[in-house]
Amino acid sequence: MCDIHTLVAETAHHWELLESLDGTVVYSSPSSLDLTGFAPEHFKGRADALLRVAHATCRAKAEDFVREMRQAEPHTRRSMELRIETGNGAVRWVSCNSCVIPGNNGSPFLRSTLRDISSRKALDLEMEHARLTDPLTRLYNRNYCLQTIKQLLDQGPLGKDYAVVALDIDRLKKVNETLGPTFGDDLVCIAAERIASTVARPDVACRLSGDGFAVILQDKSPREVMRYVRGVQAMLDEPFNLRGHEVNVTPSAGVLMSPALYENPEELLRNVSIALRRARESRRNRCKVFHSRLFVDASRQHEIEVDLHAGLRNGEFFLVYQPIIDLESNTVTSIEALLRWNHPRHGLMSPDEFLPVAEATDFIVPLGEWVLFQACQDMVGTLAQRGDMGRVTMSVNISARQLAHHSICNTVARALRQTGLAPQSLKLEITETIAMENPVLTAQRLHAIKALGVRISIDDFGTGYSSLSSLMNFPIDTLKVDKSFVGLMDSNTEQRKIVRTIIALAHSLNLEVVAEGIEQHEQWSMLKMLDCQSGQGFLFSHPVDVGTLRAFICKERPSLRQ
Ligand code: C2E
Ligand code: MG
Ligand code: MG
Repeated sequence: MCDIHTLVAETAHHWELLESLDGTVVYSSPSSLDLTGFAPEHFKGRADALLRVAHATCRAKAEDFVREMRQAEPHTRRSMELRIETGNGAVRWVSCNSCVIPGNNGSPFLRSTLRDISSRKALDLEMEHARLTDPLTRLYNRNYCLQTIKQLLDQGPLGKDYAVVALDIDRLKKVNETLGPTFGDDLVCIAAERIASTVARPDVACRLSGDGFAVILQDKSPREVMRYVRGVQAMLDEPFNLRGHEVNVTPSAGVLMSPALYENPEELLRNVSIALRRARESRRNRCKVFHSRLFVDASRQHEIEVDLHAGLRNGEFFLVYQPIIDLESNTVTSIEALLRWNHPRHGLMSPDEFLPVAEATDFIVPLGEWVLFQACQDMVGTLAQRGDMGRVTMSVNISARQLAHHSICNTVARALRQTGLAPQSLKLEITETIAMENPVLTAQRLHAIKALGVRISIDDFGTGYSSLSSLMNFPIDTLKVDKSFVGLMDSNTEQRKIVRTIIALAHSLNLEVVAEGIEQHEQWSMLKMLDCQSGQGFLFSHPVDVGTLRAFICKERPSLRQ
């Protein structure tokens, strides 16, 4: 070769390679030395130049590429990027542009041009790294989390077992407000370090948001997953030393395990978040598993939605009632309506199991409406049987979606009108965490409901972070102390102090206070000593059907247990 083309090839910075279709190298330009560390003579007359330099991780890809080009029609062009290993063992990224060119005597050649793209690749990697990591904690971020979940979902039902664990620590907002954002950052970083120390490849830890983390576990049995969750929660339970300030957090966990076939990773993360929220609200059980019985896959989720609709049409839902007792006089002060589902295939289901789907799909709006009407109607029947019950109210739980829905006030007004229940006989329970999710909207809605004459109760109080001033924006009548405090108050002085403070807070605001989850006589006595007016719990009565409730009210003796 001594024509102008050869001159161009001989002086080019990139590596020019000409092979016959059996793979023999006909020409290799001098730049092979710069790019691969091998002189052109190393390749000339020998076969498979590309495969000789391809890095082990790219060899299969290079083989496929070469095979395809050797079978291709003349003038076919293809390109690929691959890693090569140079003569001294260094690894470089190169782009390879190949073209089948017709030869003079009819037998074609494969011409390839290889360029060093290592610096572009390094930049790409850097940008990719920035796109996928959280700058504060150096953990992977939400993008990476979604990307990893997508890879697991793409494997289909026969892929690896996996679990996604969503974790949150609760004190971030308070630390930011009281000590300042630098301490808040410290809290997040220490939590991130502790979480990172619990995972090893292929498991990954990610930071999703402020104090929200996710861990993706692979190839673990459900038992191993739950052991992991207990372990990481125990690590996060240890006090955090923030520049001399000791802070304790309460970590909650939501878990979702395979097989769960979702259309997209966002949907999966949303369901883990529902489990996490439930864990946070429950407090008693700081870890909730997204119910696999319900959520086997996306089509199954659809099936449950269909089941929910059919369940409402077919009368599969029913209410049970738990009396709330005046702790001094043992008389009933209120009745809480609690929803149950008699599922045709799964049997009796508690709200924890199906409310997350109802909430996620907005079905909670018609379902909650049914609860409201049924509870009002049953209350009217109870009053008719029992006669005047003074200030006794029917308490109905309202979910976040219901409260946010514009129809809530009209629905309440309609339920009262159609059943004939006096507004002051109805009380709506809103959990503290729901109330604080959007305090402005909550205040607006609660004032409108209150204007109807209906009473309002803050449920599970103590599990959120309401300040006194934020509570005062809501027109509330009652505070319900979360059962997790009551459950521990006889053994734990901290919990007892919290209960005492909540009761004092309620009194100072002129609110009625109800202790939830009273199971033992000692708790009852202690609560009376702390000046708590009312209580509810298995000690007095489990939730019962309306007939049993009416008999209980007639007896007015807190002796019924089921
Ligand atoms: P909640 O409103 O705090 O209801 C009290 C829960 O504590 C009930 O659980 C009740 O059975 C349980 N409980 C009562 N006494 C004791 C006790 O002494 N010890 C213990 N360990 N537990 C006790 P349930 O019925 O499973 O309801 C769970 C949650 O589901 C409710 O918590 C409420 O937030 C929600 N829920 C129930 N019915 C409805 C409804 O109709 N609508 C909405 N939106 N939520 C509902
Ligand atoms: Mg309640
Ligand atoms: Mg409660």
